[in-house]
Amino acid sequence: MVKFCLQCKNAFWGGRYCPKCEGEILLLDAAEPENQKYLGELNIDVRPKYYARSSMLLTCFGFIMALPLGAFVFLRGMAHSGNVPLWASIGVATVVVISWGAWFLSRVLFDKQMEKVEDAKELQLD
Ligand SMILES: [Zn+2]
Repeated sequence: MVKFCLQCKNAFWGGRYCPKCEGEILLLDAAEPENQKYLGELNIDVRPKYYARSSMLLTCFGFIMALPLGAFVFLRGMAHSGNVPLWASIGVATVVVISWGAWFLSRVLFDKQMEKVEDAKELQLD
């Protein structure tokens, strides 16, 4: 949950009061629709964090799905003919292509989303 302080314009992970400002300045939840009008005023841009997370999920999904798909291609091929080197190489190629493709696509997706983010603000990437 991303929260932000209207006084110092910083964003934080959760919490009730701003840890940087003196006194008890309430933090506002960035996800609440009534607070989203303030997001443009913040010194920190949290969008890169969410874009990076989307890309990581896509990469992770590709890496996880590549192995079963490669094994499926190998086993289906072996059911038709007993050519082990052929179907093993096609299966391995499937794993490599899907993993690399997911990684490449996530990079393209991240770069495309980041085009909208101007770097006038501090980008929150941690
Ligand atoms: Zn503050």
